Amino acid sequence: MNAIILSVGEELTSGQTVDTNSAYLAERLARRGIRTIEHVTVPDDRARIAEAIRRSAGGAELVVITGGLGPTDDDLTRQGLADAMGTELVLDETCLATLEGWFRRIGRTMVAANRVQAMVPRGAEPLANRMGTAPGLAARVDGAAVYIMPGVPAEMKVMFDEVILPRLPDGAGAIALRSLHCFGAGESDVGMKIADLMRRDANPLVGTTVAAGMVSIRVQACGADDRQALALADRAAQEVRRRLGPLVVGQDEETMASVVGALLRTRGQTLATAESCTGGLIGAMVTAVPGASDYYRGGVVAYADDAKRGLLSVPSDLLAAHGAVSEPVARAMAEGCRRRLAADWAISVTGIAGPAGGSAEKPVGLVFLGLAGADGTAVQRIVFPGTREAIRLRTSLAALNSLRLRLAG
Ligand code: AMP
Ligand code: MG
Repeated sequence: MNAIILSVGEELTSGQTVDTNSAYLAERLARRGIRTIEHVTVPDDRARIAEAIRRSAGGAELVVITGGLGPTDDDLTRQGLADAMGTELVLDETCLATLEGWFRRIGRTMVAANRVQAMVPRGAEPLANRMGTAPGLAARVDGAAVYIMPGVPAEMKVMFDEVILPRLPDGAGAIALRSLHCFGAGESDVGMKIADLMRRDANPLVGTTVAAGMVSIRVQACGADDRQALALADRAAQEVRRRLGPLVVGQDEETMASVVGALLRTRGQTLATAESCTGGLIGAMVTAVPGASDYYRGGVVAYADDAKRGLLSVPSDLLAAHGAVSEPVARAMAEGCRRRLAADWAISVTGIAGPAGGSAEKPVGLVFLGLAGADGTAVQRIVFPGTREAIRLRTSLAALNSLRLRLAG
């Protein structure tokens, strides 16, 4: 079975918003053995939307559409669908009642503009939206199954997974995807260790991607059914893990912070953070994981020297003798933080994120990462390449990674 994914929105065609919905949908469809043969993007233009729906319905058995179901005049996808079906919009009383109920629950009165969200092309079916006001739509156009969802990614994902996915027929065979996330080596280093697994015609297909400071190895296996595909993918993933050892941080949905969190939880230990150049990024990563309160004590963002002194008990003479970006200060930050926040482990970072402020002795990208535990404190000196953003991101990941390696033994 083939699918075409259609995204609707002026913000997408103009480049103001990156189309992440299509990537999500293509991956989800692939897992069901449904191949996406085209991504189409059109602005909020009724005629273009109708034309794109008609053309897509002629080119694939399944058309999945996001965007343009909002209550404002620039949201025209339901009108475009009606045009493509050669019909008109009619008020759906059940939809209207659901919509009114939604506003009542959040304690607001529904404005007239929202009524359009209860309008459905004759012959189409509204789809429940648990996360927002706009119902989705299901219809048949030219023999193709057409599904329309809101553009807001959080609403789209829930509707696709809960309402649309269960309605889709299984594709020919099944595809299983596995993703192993690595940290501590570049893409080419990683690639060299698994080069023989990366042949383009192999099944499973193995490839690498780089995103957000991590190298991911993606495994895509085709099988007759779910079980066979998954077994193939898992066998390849295991081989990749064997080759890469401790470079592999986690798999699929796991992140650096979720893996560190799980290790801490297993040990019943706690973490605190003392951040300078990362400005709270490590704390944000740690607390992005649900349940982080089980092990995260808190953090101090100590940017100025006197904040390092006052909040982390870094001795003045260390700051004066070595400067804030130095091995002894990183050590003192970690130890002070561990003590003040009564944690089993404390991570500290101090560095020069740039673009200005570097010198021959202390270049942009120089960071010191401290890790204090019951058995002492270790400090690493690293010089990261890249922009301010990249340096801050890599510093945060490297700091968490040092704890991960320590906890994993
Ligand atoms: P809409 O349902 O068209 O009103 O879209 C609501 C919001 O969702 C837009 O303002 C965008 O910020 C976001 N959005 C819409 N389509 C996409 C897409 N394909 N990828 C990512 N975000 C999107
Ligand atoms: Mg829109």
